[in-house]
Amino acid sequence: MMLEISDLTVTYPKATEPALDQVNVSMNKGEFICILGRSGAGKSTFIRCINRLIKPSAGSIQWNGTELTSLSERAMREVRSEMVMIFQHFNLIPRMSVFQNTLTGSFGSRPAYKNLLGLFDEKELKSANQALQEVELDRFRDQRVEALSGGQKQRVGIARALMQKPSLVLGDEPVASLDPTTSERIFQLLRNIHDERNLLTLINVHDVELAKKFATRIIAFKEGKLIFDDQPSALTDEM
Ligand code: ADP
Ligand code: ADP
Repeated sequence: MMLEISDLTVTYPKATEPALDQVNVSMNKGEFICILGRSGAGKSTFIRCINRLIKPSAGSIQWNGTELTSLSERAMREVRSEMVMIFQHFNLIPRMSVFQNTLTGSFGSRPAYKNLLGLFDEKELKSANQALQEVELDRFRDQRVEALSGGQKQRVGIARALMQKPSLVLGDEPVASLDPTTSERIFQLLRNIHDERNLLTLINVHDVELAKKFATRIIAFKEGKLIFDDQPSALTDEM
């Protein structure tokens, strides 16, 4: 198993109820998993535990056999380089070009000022061009991202993520600020990239129909508990 999560529990300071309550779930390469649940159900907390933006209160997260909850920061940096996150608000640098923004994905562990100074080697420049082709934004290469539509911004976010050559793609509501048509296009793109690169993809989404259409597997949380884990066709209306 690529990711094996056991009894994962997160209780935020001062909270009376856990945000995640003894969650058990395993995930493998090739799965495109959508996470459903109402606002506050624990979806985001779950995703953030995996890349360790949040340290769980209890439980275990194994990544290809390595226990992440007790890993040193240094070792965690290596692991993190295999994981990328696609954000709701894109987290791009507005006044920089599409190409420059894409390049900033080339190395998370490198000092940020180097990225901004444009110290990139040929290989990185080539990867950025390839990534932009993959998201069909090559013609927008030299435009400032602030001039782009929401869907195009998210494509830049995806291109930037691809620079890391990830094996795990995490999405924290990546289409929450996009219209339905654009959302579907972004999901289609993520699914195509997923299939082509044989990734594990794990995405929070509000829209049940999107999950049904694109996921190979759906999990759902309610009040921090895993209440559903099955193929999309098993999802019933009352969910
Ligand atoms: P979802 O992503 O499903 O909307 P979250 O994981 O964001 O849910 O939140 C789960 C629960 O944890 C909610 O009750 C939320 O209010 C709480 N929570 C989330 N982040 C924090 C935080 N940083 N501090 C305290 N409580 C939080
Ligand atoms: P979004 O997902 O943000 O809607 P799209 O790529 O679907 O972005 O299209 C946004 C707008 O940009 C549309 O009007 C489309 O016709 C235009 N557009 C998309 N791709 C290109 C391109 N490669 N060159 C020129 N215009 C494009």
